[in-house]
This record gives sequence, C-alpha cells and structure tokens, in this order.
Amino acid sequence: MFMKWPNYIWSWFRSLFYNQPKPYDTVHVEELPDRLRERTVYLVGEGKHLWVAAMTCPCGCNETIQLNLLAGRRPKWSVSEMPNYTVSLHPSVWRKSGCKSHFFFRNSEVIWCNDHPSGDASHAA
Ligand SMILES: [Zn+2]
Repeated sequence: MFMKWPNYIWSWFRSLFYNQPKPYDTVHVEELPDRLRERTVYLVGEGKHLWVAAMTCPCGCNETIQLNLLAGRRPKWSVSEMPNYTVSLHPSVWRKSGCKSHFFFRNSEVIWCNDHPSGDASHAA
C-alpha cells in the first residue's frame, strides 16, 4: 500500500496539469476571421444554424482546422453546446495532412489520442 503512494501522487499531479487545462473559448461568428486566436473554437453560422467549426491546430503547428457541420457533405462533424458554454465535437478530429494530429474535442478541451506522434501528448482520457 505504502509503495503505491508515489504513483498515486504522480497521477494526481498529471491530472491536475495535463487533463484539466483551461477550456477553450467559444466564439460565434458569421464569417471566419483571417487570423484565429489560439485556444478558441469558432462556430460559424447564423444563430442556431451552424455550418463550420474552426480552430487553430492544438499541436502548435498553427494550421487552421475547419470542420464541416452541414448534413449532406462529408466528412461531417456534429457540435454540442452545453448549458455551461462548453463545446464538444463528434467524431474525433484527425488531420490527414500536415501534423496528422488526432484528438477529441470534449467540453471545450483537447484530448489527444494515443497515436499522436508527440510522446508527451499521449495522455488520452
Ligand atoms: Zn498541428
């Protein structure tokens, strides 16, 4: 029992620093701006009618990720906005080009998938 303490403390620290970062800001816009702020998810549309979600790639490569929300076009993502103003996207985002980042976006937080090439980013929930 006693020997397990260091592990326990370490995972507690990890959850504190890695798994609970500051959530992304959510911004509703009618047109996507030329430059996106970091750690911000843009929901492009009019009122409740959204067609694109966009953000800068969370890996730091600075590429803009645009996710189609319109039915009838593929690939298509769905977005859920919670009463506490957090946003979730479904399914996961997997860039086929560039940095090949693969992550989930849940409750306005990025959750990296284990197959991300950067080793320290592999603490998926
Ligand atoms: Zn990237």
